[in-house]
Amino acid sequence: SKEQGRNSICFFSPAQHEATLSRYRIAGLLQQALDNDEFHMVYQPQIEVDSGKLIGVEALIRWYSPQLGQVSPEVFIPVAEDAGLIEAVGYWALEQSIAETMKWLEKGLELKISVNFSARQFQRGEVASRLLALLNKYQLPAELFVVELTETCFVHSAEATECELVRLREHGVRIAIDDFGTGFSSLSYIRNMSLDMIKIDRSFISQINAENSGGRLVQAMIDMSHAMELEVVAEGVESAQDLAVLKQLGCDMAQGYHIARPMTASDLEGWAMSYEP
Ligand code: C2E
Ligand code: CA
Ligand code: CA
Ligand code: CA
Repeated sequence: SKEQGRNSICFFSPAQHEATLSRYRIAGLLQQALDNDEFHMVYQPQIEVDSGKLIGVEALIRWYSPQLGQVSPEVFIPVAEDAGLIEAVGYWALEQSIAETMKWLEKGLELKISVNFSARQFQRGEVASRLLALLNKYQLPAELFVVELTETCFVHSAEATECELVRLREHGVRIAIDDFGTGFSSLSYIRNMSLDMIKIDRSFISQINAENSGGRLVQAMIDMSHAMELEVVAEGVESAQDLAVLKQLGCDMAQGYHIARPMTASDLEGWAMSYEP
């Protein structure tokens, strides 16, 4: 309150205090969520820009908490990281995604699967061993698997991350940099790291049809990536116009609400069977 502000040092505003409390509450409920199977995965299609062909899906985690309702991953993933629960949550998501991709494959639906990894998972190491063990357990070809990680992974533990990536790529797993353009985006680490793909953040894609330099910026990102022999995925493609511009700019793959929203494994199966480019 104003009174407090004048007479004492106030460490937390009421809003901050509430946010802290709810982080504790979420952390407590996350452990319970793991025990009670409250998570599920949804999958968002990725298409080849030129042909419109369905190539793969990105796996995104969902949490329905009986106490809190639907909680966004943008809220609970950071809490899971701070609470030391990201390994458990991350590997749950990983195993579930691999199992569901394998079921599609057995039905003749071959899709690449992209899974998000938190920087914290790479700090602990053993990402490569654990992922390769799961691919082996489900007999999913490594060539169908894409690791999505953000630039943060290189800031905090560049060498450890690089070791893991090299090992994964030796086995055929592919590596994508997520949210490209929003972090440090130093060209030097992109050049030095073992990567296959770049995912241009949707904040850039939403600008490509605006009356500014948005299109040229995305063009530069695409050209730069191609010069380094990296494939480019555009995120957040929300209109036919976005997609048309991306085609002109030579973008390789696209993902976004214009193509499809993320959906459950069984909805995805139906969607894919009836999809026509
Ligand atoms: P992300 O990896 O950048 O995922 C893309 C987000 O954009 C998803 O939000 C997706 O639903 C949303 N999106 C897709 N197309 C469009 C579009 O056309 N327009 C707009 N406005 N949004 C679009 P979601 O599912 O809420 O996930 C948010 C973030 O949470 C993800 O961002 C990712 O960083 C994190 N996340 C989700 N699942 C996992 C997971 O299994 N593990 C980890 N470590 N992080 C995850
Ligand atoms: Ca992602
Ligand atoms: Ca992203
Ligand atoms: Ca993001």
